[in-house]
Order: sequence, then C-alpha cells, then structure tokens
Amino acid sequence: MTARVTVVGSVNADTSLRLAALPRPGETVLAREASASLGGKGANQAVAAARAGAHVTMVGAVGREDGEPLAQALAAEGIDTGLLTRSERASGRALVLLDDDGENSIIVVPGANAALDDAAVRQACADLSPGDVLVLQHEIPAATSRLAAATASAAGATVIWNAAPAPAHAADLVEHVDLLVVNEHELDAVARLVGLRPAGPEADVAAVAARLGTDVVCTLGAAGALVHRDGALVRVPAPVVTAVDTTAAGDTFVGYLAASWHLPLADAVRRAALAGALAVTRQGAATSIPTRAEVELGLA
Ligand code: ATP
Repeated sequence: MTARVTVVGSVNADTSLRLAALPRPGETVLAREASASLGGKGANQAVAAARAGAHVTMVGAVGREDGEPLAQALAAEGIDTGLLTRSERASGRALVLLDDDGENSIIVVPGANAALDDAAVRQACADLSPGDVLVLQHEIPAATSRLAAATASAAGATVIWNAAPAPAHAADLVEHVDLLVVNEHELDAVARLVGLRPAGPEADVAAVAARLGTDVVCTLGAAGALVHRDGALVRVPAPVVTAVDTTAAGDTFVGYLAASWHLPLADAVRRAALAGALAVTRQGAATSIPTRAEVELGLA
C-alpha cells in the first residue's frame, strides 16, 4: 500500500560547516569543510517520507529568484511540487555547524517560509481523504499550520504535528492534531505551554497526551522513542550505531513515521527509529536520509 503524505512546512538552502569544536561567544574558528544542500524540516520530512515509499506532496514557499534548485531537488525525489509557491522573499536558509562529537548548532533565516500562500495550503489540505496523512512542523507561521490542520482534519485525514523547533507561546499550539511528535526538549516546552510542571519524559508524555487529547511520540536520541497511544505507554529502542552527524535524525523519524502510518503504531515507530539511527551514521540533512531498501535490510 502506498501512503499519501502531504507536508506543509519549510524548505531551506542549508550550508553545513564542519569544525573541531563549536565556537564560543566572541570566538572565531576555522571550518574544515563546507557543503550546500536541501534542508528545512518540512523538506527533510518530505524527502524521508518519499524515500520510505510514500506518495508525497510538498506545500511551501521558496524565493522566486533563488528557489528553483530547491524545487528541483524535491522533484528529483519524486515529490509533487505543484503547490510549492514562489515568493518575492529569498528562500529560507540555514547555517549548520557540526563538531567532531557529532553535535550541531543551527541558525535559521526563515525568508519565504514566513509567507506561505494560504490558498495553496487550503487547496492541498481540502483535497486529502481518510487514510491520508498531513505532516506539520514549527518552522512556518503557526497560523498557517493551524489552517492546514483544521482543513485536513475536516477532510478526514490524519494530522501529525512535529512541534519543532520548540514552541515558545501558547498561541503556537496547533489544534486538530492526531499525533504529536517531539524530542525531550520540545516535550518539556509543550508541557509548560499547556500548564503542566515537567516531571520527566514518561510522565510528561502521558500528561501532555491527556491534556491535548492526542497520541504522543517522544524521540529520545540513542535511547529510541516513547509512544503514548490510547492511554498506554511503550518504549521502542533504537539500534546501536556510531553517530557521525545527528542533523535530520528527527526529520527522518517523522517522515518515516508518516509514510508508515497504515502499519500498527509500534511497527511504524520501529521503522522510524531505525531510519533515524541510519541517518545519524552519515553527514548532512536530506543527504543522510536512508532509502526504504536500506531500512528493510535493517529490519530483516
Ligand atoms: P535532530 O534535531 O538532531 O534532528 P531530534 O532531537 O529531533 O534530532 P532525536 O531524538 O535525536 O531527534 O532522534 C530521532 C530518532 O533517531 C531517535 O528516536 C532514534 O530512533 C534515532 N537516533 C537519533 N540519535 C541516535 C543515536 N545516537 N543512535 C541511535 N539512534 C539514534
């Protein structure tokens, strides 16, 4: 069965710099290597879902002047870019700093991602059907994500919200969500925004699920993921790997999870955890996302 996944989110031009150690305030450091690639949480998750075998539509905005290579990179993955609009603003950009321990620091300039076209969002989401999946993140205006979620939900589709980067205001929360996906830091932020006192991932996952009325998956890096569905909590381990670059591990996880939504949730999370683990063994964002064949091999 081929899943249909629509991503409404960010598309960035990433510049990645490899350094011995991340610079401290006031410090100037030399990078060993620089590379350019497609990035943005929306685009990365769209690529992950496409490599997982889903039929993917990317709804977003890129710059009229500089966006063509980004649109082409998405299309080269077999992603439908018919609703990727062109903005007078420059395309979003991200500067990714990577150190020798596999840690990263990222600076994002939103650019065109701050100005998605509501008509395109409405058109894409109204066209969804039960069984289809909408995936949202938090790198576009929350109002746009809320419009997408309400429209997709009314059409009967499943709404997955990856609340990343961590939302800072209650007004950033998205309604009509079926599954919230967060890492530990984002879980803590969401818990505070819904008026809870954070008490550790296991308690917070259950409390946030109850407060928002959604299922919740919390990714825990090398420790795998916590899954809270229908009142039950399950821990899914991640395979042991050597981390080279953790960029896009979370995006890989979310894209694979969306593409596997037709499977029982624990199976979908196991697949997503393996895909995330494979992504950290390679450098880059979209470039590090494994193919379905690689994940199938790991599951065998
Ligand atoms: P990022 O922001 O770096 O993309 P994240 O914080 O959103 O990542 P993580 O929890 O770090 O997300 O990773 C997502 C998933 O990827 C984890 O649930 C796990 O399955 C896998 N993963 C990440 N890091 C490792 C690791 N070091 N070893 C094995 N699996 C990993």
